[in-house]
Amino acid sequence: MAQFKCYVCKEDVRTGEKFTFTKKGSVHFDCFVSAKRKGIDSEKAEMLRTLSLILDSELSHLLNLLRINPEDDKSKEYERAKYKDIEKACGETTKKIEEL
Ligand SMILES: [Zn+2]
Repeated sequence: MAQFKCYVCKEDVRTGEKFTFTKKGSVHFDCFVSAKRKGIDSEKAEMLRTLSLILDSELSHLLNLLRINPEDDKSKEYERAKYKDIEKACGETTKKIEEL
């Protein structure tokens, strides 16, 4: 995996860590959510809690898919297609959190 830096904590994002991409760049899941929590109106807190749990489970799903390592082309193709679906879902949830 290419090396990314988290724009919140300035540390490298390592393989196997949960992270996402925003307009500002790459960011750890935990850094993203806690930075967002600091600046949010109290009436949006429940939405942030819900969205962050959803994103957490989508990112776990993504990391689990990476561990499958399919050995033939048909399997690889299916795994890649699924990965793209979940990646898209992660992007949508990340955007929703950004917009809160
Ligand atoms: Zn970070």
